[in-house]
Amino acid sequence: MPAQQNKKCAHPACHCQARPGSDYCSTYCEGEAKTADIQCNCGHPACAH
Ligand SMILES: [Zn+2]
Ligand SMILES: [Zn+2]
Repeated sequence: MPAQQNKKCAHPACHCQARPGSDYCSTYCEGEAKTADIQCNCGHPACAH
């Protein structure tokens, strides 16, 4: 199957889809992925609180 689009962001608390070519949806998640936050603050609607 093609490797694209349907991969979840690698941030443990993020519900977004990762960007094509990235393991994360945003630079926020890239920076915070090592931190086991209980919530994601990437700003995308899927993670709005
Ligand atoms: Zn998120
Ligand atoms: Zn994310």
